[in-house]
Amino acid sequence: MDKKPMYEGKAKKMYTTENPDEMLVYFKDDATAFNGGKKGTILNKGILNNKISTFFFQLLGQHGIPHHFIRTVSDREMLVKALKILQVEVVVRNIAAGSLAKRIGWEEGTKLPTTVVEMYYKNDELGDPLINASHIKAMGLASEEQVKRMEEYAVKINSILTDYLKDKKIELIDFKLEFGLYHGEVILGDEISPDTCRFWDSETKQKLDKDRFRRDLGDVEGAYQEILYRLTGEKFS
Ligand code: UDP
Repeated sequence: MDKKPMYEGKAKKMYTTENPDEMLVYFKDDATAFNGGKKGTILNKGILNNKISTFFFQLLGQHGIPHHFIRTVSDREMLVKALKILQVEVVVRNIAAGSLAKRIGWEEGTKLPTTVVEMYYKNDELGDPLINASHIKAMGLASEEQVKRMEEYAVKINSILTDYLKDKKIELIDFKLEFGLYHGEVILGDEISPDTCRFWDSETKQKLDKDRFRRDLGDVEGAYQEILYRLTGEKFS
């Protein structure tokens, strides 16, 4: 494949391909937290997140959610549709945790009586500030219709994932999505992995996600492996 480096992010590298409609994503082991304030490596994270994201994109595709995944290229690479990423991060929350628990003063682990959908401005220099639909419109980040579409997909994705994960004894606390435009249509991009979701064991409430890295809880690799195992039955070591 004739790939050319295009962009290197905190957890992934993007390459253009000979087809302008397709891009290659390379998943790295690098881990960052607190807007780049904490840096580290999670052994084999790139391989695990490539597999886990692939699983979730395929699951969502089966339920009618349009996404960028095309096919697996190698253990760390997936071919995706080349999107024009909207500079908005959509966060969906079922249980108060992380920044929301802090912002509204609720104890982490408190169930939210209704699902919360939030939008953040994707801008590292500003630390990804919380914004609303009115800011998005004023800033020209997306049209009103595109915002509605992202919200609609986010809520539907939440119910698909929550239902699926329940059987795997995983509680979906919250997660972040990114959307982009592909020939004018809003479709799901980025990744869905323990880097971008909070997963708790339903019974023990053990954290099985990047909070183990953020909060120095130990056995970060084991948590990512456990998620892959519960989703696919694959034992990775
Ligand atoms: N999240 C993410 N990337 C970000 C910020 C948040 O993937 O830049 C995910 C995070 O893993 C969690 C959810 O979005 O699943 C909500 O994160 P929160 O706002 O609580 O922020 P954090 O506690 O990570 O600072």
